[in-house]
Amino acid sequence: MNTIYLDNNATTPVAPEVLDEMLPYLKELYGNPSSMHTFGGQLHEKVEKARSKVAQLIGAELDEIIFTSCGTESDNTAIMSAVESFPNKRHIITTRVEHPAVLNFCKHLARKGFRVTYLPVNNYGQLNIDDLLKVLDEDTALVSIMYANNESGVIFPIAEIAEILKKRRILFHTDAVQAVGKIPIDVNKLPVDMLSLSGHKLHAPKGVGALYVRKGTRFHPYIIGGHQERGRRAGTENVASIIGLGKACELAMKNLSDEINYLKGLRDKLENALLKSCPDASINGDINNRLPNTTNLSFEYVEGEAILLRLNEYGICASSGSACTSGSLEPSHVLRAMGVPFTAIHGSIRFSLSRYNTEAEIDRVIEIMPLIIKELRLLSPFGRDKLEQFLHSPKSKFLRKIS
Ligand code: PLP
Repeated sequence: MNTIYLDNNATTPVAPEVLDEMLPYLKELYGNPSSMHTFGGQLHEKVEKARSKVAQLIGAELDEIIFTSCGTESDNTAIMSAVESFPNKRHIITTRVEHPAVLNFCKHLARKGFRVTYLPVNNYGQLNIDDLLKVLDEDTALVSIMYANNESGVIFPIAEIAEILKKRRILFHTDAVQAVGKIPIDVNKLPVDMLSLSGHKLHAPKGVGALYVRKGTRFHPYIIGGHQERGRRAGTENVASIIGLGKACELAMKNLSDEINYLKGLRDKLENALLKSCPDASINGDINNRLPNTTNLSFEYVEGEAILLRLNEYGICASSGSACTSGSLEPSHVLRAMGVPFTAIHGSIRFSLSRYNTEAEIDRVIEIMPLIIKELRLLSPFGRDKLEQFLHSPKSKFLRKIS
C-alpha cells in the first residue's frame, strides 16, 4: 500500500535534490569548518554559500542569518535574547495560539516572574490589532507572534504589526516556521527584528533551523561556547544539514509561485469535495488568509483520532486537533482559543500538503473520507451519543435529510 502523506505541517520529506547536495558532507567531506587545514576549512565557504541561499529566500543579508538546531531553538533564542537585552523590562506579549516552542517558553519565563500577555484570537483564528495596542507598555521587552499557524494555517497580519512595533521601538519576533518556503516573505518589506525558520518544514532534514536577526538588533546568544556563527550560536556546525537547508531554500525560491497555485488547487479541491460529501463538516480558520497547503476541517460527532486511525489503515497520514495524552483527550489549544465547539474540536482533522502530493492522491482521499465519516458516526459511541442528541434536534438538517 502506498502512503499518502498529507501531514506536511508536521514534517516534510527531504527533497531528492537536497539529499544529493548533502551526501558528500556526510561521507568524504566530513571536516570541521573551523579547522585551519584546507580539508576542514574549505567547508566554511560551503556553509556561507548555504547561508546566502537562506538569506536570499527571505530578502535578508548574509550575516543576519544564524544557523540553529531547529525551529524550537530559534524561537527560544529569540525570546531569551530579548529578555537578556532589556533586563529592566519584564513584559512579553504573545498569542494564545502559538506553537509550544513559544508558548511553553513564555510559560517558563512567567514562572520566573515575567509578565506574559497572551492575545486572544476570534472564531476565524485571527488577531485583533487593537488588543495588541491595548497591552503594549513601557515594560514590554518583546512581542512574539507567529507568521502562520501550524494547525489552522491562518496567516497573521505580521507586516502591519511590525510597522506598529517599529514606531514604538518594541522588539518583534515572528515564528515563521510554517510560512517560510510556503508563501513569499521579504524582510525588506516586513520590519520584524527576528524571524524563526526550520529546515524540516521545507524539505530540508530535521535538526536544522535558522534565526534571522536584523542588523542593529541587540542580541544575546542562548547557546554559549565556541566562536561559531560569529559568537552568536556555539557548537560545531551541522554542515550537511546546513547545506541541505540552503538547497531547500533555493528550491523554494525557484518554484514558489507555481507551488502556491498547485497546492491551493489541490487543497481547495479536497476541501470543497469533503464539505459537499460529508454532512456537518466545516472549515476552521480564516479562509481568506491561510497557507495554501493547509486545511483544518471539523467533522462533528466523530472523534478525530478515530478518523486518523481509519485513514491510517488506508495509508493516509493526517493530524487531528486532539492529542491523546496520558489517556485523556487533550483538545487543541488553537481550536479552543478560536472558540470551536467541543464536538467540532474533537472531530477536527488537518490535511497539510506538499509539492509531492498528486491529484490522484487527493482523489483517493475524496473517495475514502466520506465512507469513514459515515461509518464512524454510526459505530463510535461518542459519535452515536452525539448523533442521537443531534437527531432529536428539530433544527437538524441531517434529520430532515434522512427522514
Ligand atoms: N513553530 C511552529 C509554528 C511549528 O509548527 C513548529 C513545528 O511544528 C515549530 C515552531 C518547531 O520547529 P522544530 O520542530 O524545528 O523545532
